[in-house]
Amino acid sequence: MVDEIRSKAKELLTDGTVECVIGYERATDGVTARPLFAYTAEEIDRFIMDNTCVHNLARYLLDRKGKPTAVVVKPCDSRTINLLVQENQIERDKVFAIGVTCPGVVEAHWGEASDEAQPRCVTCSLEVPAVYDYLVTMPGERQTRTGFPDLERMETMSPEERREFWERQFERCIRCHACRQVCPGCYCPICFVDQLDPTWVGIRNAPPENQVWHLIRAFHLAGRCIECGECQRVCPVGIPLMLLNQKLAAEVEGMFDFRPGLDAETLPPFAVFKKEELEAER
Ligand code: SF4
Ligand code: SF4
Ligand code: SF4
Repeated sequence: MVDEIRSKAKELLTDGTVECVIGYERATDGVTARPLFAYTAEEIDRFIMDNTCVHNLARYLLDRKGKPTAVVVKPCDSRTINLLVQENQIERDKVFAIGVTCPGVVEAHWGEASDEAQPRCVTCSLEVPAVYDYLVTMPGERQTRTGFPDLERMETMSPEERREFWERQFERCIRCHACRQVCPGCYCPICFVDQLDPTWVGIRNAPPENQVWHLIRAFHLAGRCIECGECQRVCPVGIPLMLLNQKLAAEVEGMFDFRPGLDAETLPPFAVFKKEELEAER
């Protein structure tokens, strides 16, 4: 299967379709995977594809705007391409998506890879990428899907219990902003959290500021989060950010029958004004 990815990637470089192919290579720990930007056939020979390939590589398309680029995408990552095309951040004809079907990826940390599925895979609803130009089938039995058990548990809690839960989580945040850096939907040149004039949220790492940071970021991603799970994966203190993201995704889907990134044509609800919505409010 990896031979198929390498062969397609080499073909794209050789015939000049793209200048660069973004895939995965084995990290120097010999266990986990890391992104590889390949510009030559020799570099493409280092590509791998297995259940340690966790990164959402489509996020790097933001760093290659206007440059013909191929990228290896799992189904969850593929939604990034539709999101970024729709938001005019990348041009579809400059991107070649090498899609892979996906049985799931595992929790992998420096020097070790477990058998445990990543939380995003437990709730994943896509088996095939939402968008691709070439499709490769990844072997392996698809992991069992269990719905959204954590989210359902949250729904049974009272508002006070939920507030307490999130206060405890946000208190642990060290404001490293890794969740923002890895997110394909967080590409503002200056994030609200870094702005000083006006100041939206103080720089202090303390409960009130942390809450504002998290709640504003979650709302900025409402109707835009493509549920790649990268923010939660990279959080160094293990804050369950996907609980927030999935709650907002469920609300948006319930209200507007919309899930971002499934195609590049359906207009997102917060980008359109419908007169009927105003009339329904009256
Ligand atoms: S969320 Fe779905 S597509 Fe993404 S890695 Fe997990 S199983 Fe694969
Ligand atoms: S908020 Fe998290 S899950 Fe959603 S798109 Fe950004 S990184 Fe992916
Ligand atoms: S990655 Fe985790 S610790 Fe860092 S800012 Fe985000 S939530 Fe806070």
